[in-house]
Amino acid sequence: MKVNIYCDYPSEVWHEEFIFSEGGCVVVTSQEATKTENLKAELVIIGGGGAGLAAALAAAENGCKSIIVLEKAGSAAGSTAMAHDIFGAESPVQKRTGVDAPKDDLFKVAMEWAHWTRINPRLVRAFIDKSGDTIGWLEKKGLSFELIQFYPNQVPLVRHSVMGHGNQLMKVLRKNCEDLGIKILTRTPAKKILRGEKGNVTGVVAATKDGELTVTARSVIVATGGYGNNKECLRNIVRTTTILLHTTDHPATQETG
Ligand SMILES: Cc1cc2nc3c(=O)[nH]c(=O)nc-3n(C[C@H](O)[C@H](O)[C@H](O)COP(=O)(O)OP(=O)(O)OC[C@H]3O[C@@H](n4cnc5c(N)ncnc54)[C@H](O)[C@@H]3O)c2cc1C
Repeated sequence: MKVNIYCDYPSEVWHEEFIFSEGGCVVVTSQEATKTENLKAELVIIGGGGAGLAAALAAAENGCKSIIVLEKAGSAAGSTAMAHDIFGAESPVQKRTGVDAPKDDLFKVAMEWAHWTRINPRLVRAFIDKSGDTIGWLEKKGLSFELIQFYPNQVPLVRHSVMGHGNQLMKVLRKNCEDLGIKILTRTPAKKILRGEKGNVTGVVAATKDGELTVTARSVIVATGGYGNNKECLRNIVRTTTILLHTTDHPATQETG
């Protein structure tokens, strides 16, 4: 099945063509692969969604000089551009508005929801511990947030709605990347991570509209999002009946990273 996806957010217009099959979907490539290109970078990030661009910015801020983001779709947006709000504990927004949202209490709530068994407590703790600072970091990038309720009389308020929603979030992250000289290559899906003799990462091979691109790099971050559009993965991981569910994920989320 061939599907044309047209996205018309207020601040951007992009267009993608995808072919859906049993195993997932692929972005349509119209030309024969003939051209071979080579680039070098200190860091390659696969996937230009929220996680990928945030990682790129954090790396640049910490002294990484040359960063290339490989993005499969026509715009660095991902599912993040469709999202709305971000969890935060002890954030600057909460502090300014007098909302008491202690990390320790919220950690216990999260763990109790998972019966203290089904999730990785260290990961949950790290996520909660970093969440407030992440909101502050995003504010400094030019974003604004307001606290919203998830359900009536929710206490404490932890959902930080991004003004302009995910689309604005991605727009601001892209602009910050541009300002710091981070290269975002769209319509460039990564195909393979290259390794040296000792198993160390040496780069990434990606497809381009004209052929193939090899980026030599010492470090690679995989930020390709979920697998909501990969039916085989859903079948294996979530079990059979769930593949009948419709996903709202970005069509490029196929666990191809
Ligand atoms: C409709 C919707 C609403 C949501 N609302 C919320 C919300 O309000 N709050 C919340 O916390 N969460 C929400 N979520 C979930 C949240 O959006 C995701 O968990 C989050 O955006 C994931 O970020 P990410 O950067 O990991 O993935 P993404 O933003 O999906 O980015 C992954 C990127 O990787 C690219 N990619 C994939 N494979 C390759 C490859 N091989 N080579 C190169 N690039 C590749 C994709 O094209 C994509 O751009 C929502 C999700 C959806 C779909």
